Amino acid sequence: MDDTTAHQIPSESGAASNPAASDSPGTAPNAAASDSPAASPGPRTDRTRIRRHADRAVPERVDEFLRTGLIAHVACTDDGEPRVIPFLYHYEAGHIYLHGSPGNATLRLLRDGRSAAVAVTKIVDLIASKTAADHSANYRSVVAYGRGRQIADLAEKRRILDAMTARYFPGRLASTDYAPAADEDLARMDLIDVEIDEASAKMREGGPIGPHDSEPDFPGSAFVRSV
Ligand SMILES: Cc1cc2nc3c(=O)[nH]c(=O)nc-3n(C[C@H](O)[C@H](O)[C@H](O)COP(=O)(O)OP(=O)(O)OC[C@H]3O[C@@H](n4cnc5c(N)ncnc54)[C@H](O)[C@@H]3O)c2cc1C
Repeated sequence: MDDTTAHQIPSESGAASNPAASDSPGTAPNAAASDSPAASPGPRTDRTRIRRHADRAVPERVDEFLRTGLIAHVACTDDGEPRVIPFLYHYEAGHIYLHGSPGNATLRLLRDGRSAAVAVTKIVDLIASKTAADHSANYRSVVAYGRGRQIADLAEKRRILDAMTARYFPGRLASTDYAPAADEDLARMDLIDVEIDEASAKMREGGPIGPHDSEPDFPGSAFVRSV
C-alpha cells in the first residue's frame, strides 16, 4: 500500500513500477503559495517540502483542505516526549482553533507559545491493485506548523465557537437553532489559537496504477472503493 505504509514498502503508489514519478527532484519547497500572507498559509521552508511524490503537492489548496477538514491530529512535545491527540477544530485565515476543558493536557501545553504540528487528513477512496505494493488510497491532507496562544476574551471565544459550530453544521445559528453558550461556560472552556507559520498540502487522485491493473488476464482484481 502506498503512502499509508511507507515504512513497509519504499515507494508510494506507482513508484515501484514508475520510479521516475516517485521522488521530488528539487531542493526548493513546493512553494506555489509560499509568498502568500498568513491568510493562505503555504510551504515556506524545507520543513514543508514534499519529497515523496512531489507531483502530488498542492500548496494552493492548503486553505481549502483546512476549511473543509473534520479532524485535526495535534502534536507537540511534553518534556521532550512527543504526544499527538485528535481534535475537532475551527479554521480561519491561517489560524487553527482548538477547544476543550482547561484540564486538557494538549491545550495546556499550547497556551504559552509552544510549537505544534497539526495534520488534517481526509480519505476519499481506497484503491485495490493486482499487486501488493500498489494498493493505495485517494486522500487530501495538510500538515501545518505553528504556535499556540490562549484566547481569554469571552467575545472572541463566542465568535470562534459559533463559527466552528457553523463550519461543522452549515447554516446552524446560535439563538435560533441552539441556546448560546453562557459566559460561565465560555470562561471555563480553554480555546487555543494555533497561528500557522507554514503548511503543505498533498493529494492523490485516480484509480489503480499497478503494472498489471489494466491487464484483464492477469489474476486478481483492481478497483476503487469510495469511503
Ligand atoms: C474525532 C475526535 C475529536 C475530538 N475533539 C476534541 C475537542 O475538540 N476537544 C477536546 O477537548 N477533546 C476532543 N477529543 C477528545 C481528545 O482526543 C482527548 O481524548 C481529550 O482531549 C482528553 O485529553 P486529556 O487531556 O484527558 O488526555 P491526554 O492527557 O491528552 O492524553 C493522555 C493519553 O490518553 C490517551 N488518549 C487521549 N485521548 C485519546 C483519544 N482520543 N484516543 C485514544 N487515546 C487517547 C493517549 O494515550 C494519551 O497519551 C476528540 C476526540 C476525537 C476522536
